[in-house]
Amino acid sequence: MAQHFINGQWVPAANGETLPVIDPSTGEVFDTLARGTAPDIDAAVAAARAALSGPWGKLNATERGRILLRMSALMLERAEELAQLESRDTGKPIGQARNDITVAARYCEFYGGAADKLHGEQIPYLNDFHVVVVREPYGVTAHILPWNYPAQMFGRSVVPALAMGNAAVLKPSEDACMTPLAFCHIAKEAGLPDGALNVVTGLGEEAGAALTAHRDIDFVTFTGSPEVGTLVQKAAADRTLKVVLELGGKSPQIVFDDADLERAATFILKAITQNAGQTCSAGSRLLVQRSIYDRFMATVAERFQASAAGTPAQDRDCGPLINAAQKARVEGFIRRATDSGIPILAQGQVAAGTHPGGYYVAPTLFGPVPRDHQLACDEVFGPVLAAIPFDDEADAIALANATDFGLLAGIWTRDGGRQTRVAKAMKCGQVYINTYGAGGGVELPFGGVKRSGHGREKGFMALEEFCTVKTVVQYHGQ
Ligand code: NAD
Repeated sequence: MAQHFINGQWVPAANGETLPVIDPSTGEVFDTLARGTAPDIDAAVAAARAALSGPWGKLNATERGRILLRMSALMLERAEELAQLESRDTGKPIGQARNDITVAARYCEFYGGAADKLHGEQIPYLNDFHVVVVREPYGVTAHILPWNYPAQMFGRSVVPALAMGNAAVLKPSEDACMTPLAFCHIAKEAGLPDGALNVVTGLGEEAGAALTAHRDIDFVTFTGSPEVGTLVQKAAADRTLKVVLELGGKSPQIVFDDADLERAATFILKAITQNAGQTCSAGSRLLVQRSIYDRFMATVAERFQASAAGTPAQDRDCGPLINAAQKARVEGFIRRATDSGIPILAQGQVAAGTHPGGYYVAPTLFGPVPRDHQLACDEVFGPVLAAIPFDDEADAIALANATDFGLLAGIWTRDGGRQTRVAKAMKCGQVYINTYGAGGGVELPFGGVKRSGHGREKGFMALEEFCTVKTVVQYHGQ
């Protein structure tokens, strides 16, 4: 796999260098990938630019959509093989990896079908004028992606860009890029013209920085940490490029005293253990009304106690974390919270049969966590949940919004008026009521406010992000 995919061809890094690919469940190297640098990015951007005036640029929207639909079918045909690859590369439980491939295929299906559905408009204007607003692709779109959901992220970021007729250059994460590379084989087989999709692997500071600094890209979409997102926005500002940023979160789950507590407890565990908590939308702050705090925390603690991190094949609540640094980071949060005297209410297991070299951390529940403690404020990106009691609705709203982030919020209450009031008050991009992160959400616009980023991916709305608007004013005479 130690090759980039540029202009429809598999090519090694210009400097011939490679990086190791590590299996997070064992800590062992199982493959290598190409270590891309500026010359590889130059070649990829040039191929994308050429594609826009070549066969790719000449396809109409329906033809582009059909290619994406074929990609979807091929992904589903090879779903098991792709799920095994995703699971090996990221360490995630095989059941979660299978779901991720299904969702990636669904993105191709959704955007394949939608490619020719985004219309322009005609605007009534002065007499003797004909005015139309048309949508056009930006041109060369740059995509920088994280390691937590490589297959899903490909579907969510690259696929709508292709649907709108852009030519994409993708720099996936050095920690997980196997399925995006496998999708290039599928794209070629589905008939995607050369140069429409280019993937350069490598490190963020090398390949990623070279891509965002490139003079010939027209658009950047970045999913990852707020720190790197800020660097990307600064780099893009030099050329006043449009930027979409999908960054981190510290999303609250707010549980009121009239909630269905059994249902809430099930979702609360899942929302912090899915993908070992390495999910931007993880429900990582549990806000519980004080009147039910002890009773409800006992229920949640039971769920944590019964949970486990296991091998991908064991398919438990979560797998290992992505790498040694992430494991050390998460363990650092646990240690500092313990050192501050915050009680661990429950801790799950690392299952028997896991490799000692794997990056496992057991699901851990802390509470009550002081509101200003770093465990209550910072994104841990691990299976660690901070519980905080609140007094009443106003306190819950203030606490939920007292964060730099604004990605998701979960509201658990049977009171319809309160559902509406609290949902309205949330400063975030998505609100879930009596559920959390349901169904993969390919159809649902997704994004953040505040430090969680700006712009929207997913859903039909993402198509508008990936095209620019041209107003054509024609004087047609008397
Ligand atoms: P990261 O920011 O470390 O890396 C993301 C990508 O940026 C990688 O491909 C990396 O190689 C690249 N990169 C690193 N330095 C760069 C630079 N200087 N210039 C250009 N590119 C560079 O993030 P991560 O650790 O891979 O992912 C975890 C973060 O992603 C978390 O904060 C998480 O919340 C966030 N995330 C957000 C969403 C969302 O939709 N909001 C989704 C998934 C992950």
